Amino acid sequence: MIRVGVSGAAGRVGSAVCEAVESANDLELTGRADPQLGVALADILGDCDVVVDFTTPDAALDNALACVRAGVHAVVGTTGWDPEPLRAERGANVFVAPNFAIGAVLMMCFAVEASRYMAKAEIIELHHNRKVDAPSGTAARTAQLMDGEVPIHSVRLPGLVAHQEVILGDVGQTLTIRHDSTDRTSFMPGVLLAIRRVGELPESPVIGLEHLL
Ligand code: NAP
Repeated sequence: MIRVGVSGAAGRVGSAVCEAVESANDLELTGRADPQLGVALADILGDCDVVVDFTTPDAALDNALACVRAGVHAVVGTTGWDPEPLRAERGANVFVAPNFAIGAVLMMCFAVEASRYMAKAEIIELHHNRKVDAPSGTAARTAQLMDGEVPIHSVRLPGLVAHQEVILGDVGQTLTIRHDSTDRTSFMPGVLLAIRRVGELPESPVIGLEHLL
């Protein structure tokens, strides 16, 4: 049994993570931290082997540092923060993914491959209107991996979940690669995979679900 705590447990994604962990036979949900529940991360660390963090950009680094310094592995889905300071830390592993949906990871891989052969590309990322960061972590990571300068356009509207289009253009043609998460359950298989694998990473932090596939 892996003992799992969830940080941001009252949030949209965090609550879905709690349900997914409770449904998995090899995982035990041992803590839910969230200001809305009146429970701090420090209160649950002693009961956890792994903490999953879906919180806010300004909380993610401190949360990951607290985990590592307590010897607890961290799986971080929060976007809009810089994991670089974690390289200096030893004691436990951190796995970070800007997107835990398998289809989104494939969309990123195909876009990177296509950018080697087509002249120009731009990204349109579309999310629900309560998302706090822009551009999205997925779009920023895709653009970073692709060849050339790739401008990003952000759309925030009610009714959306998480969507991204990469449009590549060349003489007389365009290629569009699109991924849609229509429900937050799309992230759960990737999150559960990361929980099971974070303890055996060869280095830390590891960034991107493609490293676990
Ligand atoms: P949300 O509904 O706002 O949930 C975040 C929760 O974290 C809130 O309940 C918040 O409480 C709580 N929180 C804030 N600071 C905290 C702290 N220091 N310790 C513990 N909990 C804390 O947001 P969401 O839609 O679930 O998204 C969360 C993050 O995941 C965002 O960065 C989003 O971009 C990212 N995300 C990633 C993926 C992926 O696949 N990697 C997919 C979807 C979303 P308060 O409201 O009281 O501040």
